[in-house]
Amino acid sequence: MSGAIALLIVNSAVAGLFSLCYFLIALINRSERPVIVFSISYLIGMSSPISELMVHFSNYPVPFMLLSYFGLECGFLAMAAALSAFERKRPLWPAIFGIACLAAIMRFLIWNGPRDDLLYEICYQLPLALALFLCVGVALSNAHRLTLYYTLSVLFGACGANFLIKPFVAVAMGSGRTAKDYAGSAYALYSQASNGILLTAAGLVVLLVVIQTAIREHLETSDTDHLSGLLNRRGFDRRAQGLVGSTLPEATDVCVVMIDLDHFKSINDTWGHDTGDRVIQIFSEILRNAAPQSALAARTGGEEFVLLLHRTKIESARLLAELIRQQTTAHQYPDIPAFTFSAGIAKLIPGESLSQLIRRADQATYRAKLGGRNRSELDLTGIADSDDHAQDWNACSWHG
Ligand code: GH3
Ligand code: MG
Ligand code: MG
Repeated sequence: MSGAIALLIVNSAVAGLFSLCYFLIALINRSERPVIVFSISYLIGMSSPISELMVHFSNYPVPFMLLSYFGLECGFLAMAAALSAFERKRPLWPAIFGIACLAAIMRFLIWNGPRDDLLYEICYQLPLALALFLCVGVALSNAHRLTLYYTLSVLFGACGANFLIKPFVAVAMGSGRTAKDYAGSAYALYSQASNGILLTAAGLVVLLVVIQTAIREHLETSDTDHLSGLLNRRGFDRRAQGLVGSTLPEATDVCVVMIDLDHFKSINDTWGHDTGDRVIQIFSEILRNAAPQSALAARTGGEEFVLLLHRTKIESARLLAELIRQQTTAHQYPDIPAFTFSAGIAKLIPGESLSQLIRRADQATYRAKLGGRNRSELDLTGIADSDDHAQDWNACSWHG
């Protein structure tokens, strides 16, 4: 058995294993269904080395010659589509169909042409290289989400460059007198070895992308509160811990606003638990829309919420709380009762921990409850006289 035939068998098996692996990931994890697109692309690609073997061993090589070429071309184009689909983006169909048509035209034009001729070889390899460069473009367009896509684009770029070099290597080494002789040629050894190494590396990086995406999605799900769509306590703590106590510029002027809906138990008792749930969702929506993009908004308990604001003076935090209060009392949802909240606002004292800061804001919320509800209270610990005119603000505390 020649070395190239052994490599064709190995490459078929590796492509098949990748396809099976992605298929199993999609089958076992419902949430990972999009991974099936990678399985399909490797399955299509696998038909190419198998067909090369059939060209060598079969007495009817023509269909296998076609399949070996278009299997590889369509496998690469399917990878370009899969990289978009995996990121829930529309595949670049015009480019994909354009390259597929170019490949069909080129292959038709050089059919029965002279092998080992530079023009023949360039016409053969160019559409394959273009399909790989399309994968590079799609991978780069995904790189803002996951830096691993940069590695993937480098690997696809190297594969594409290899397909541009192949015509020269084929002419220099000889790719066999006929398609049937290809598998016994020295060029086939180079071609299959380089394809095998680069495409296996790319397949492994795609696998890493899939794993990294799954880990990220899992973390996001476990950090999110299902009812409100806001961060839950765990998600809030993880993000807030990184900020409080850090020396980052955005860690200065950190304020928290603790919010507790008023008489929520009686809303449940009077209107039912489902209406209570809707109130939580409506308030979460108000909070999400009012909070600056950089803020952390979380539902930390049943009807308790927290907003962490950085680079925010306590007076701005208080204005924001007032805005949210006005929007809350002004809501006009049918079949939803009017509701209010009480809030406590505190500003981080240098050296203070997150839990100490939250405890102070909690105590301020308690005072807002005692003070009649539907209002906010500031915790003035550590606030200098000149800072934010906070004392003046508290003196004229508002309520609806
Ligand atoms: P206060 O003004 O003093 O805060 O009174 P409250 O009734 O809002 O506070 P209390 O702690 O007595 O009651 C909170 C209620 O919130 C009790 C609980 O049944 C309800 N609750 C907690 N989680 C949920 C939830 O996810 N959905 C609904 N509908 N109710 C919830
Ligand atoms: Mg409460
Ligand atoms: Mg309450």
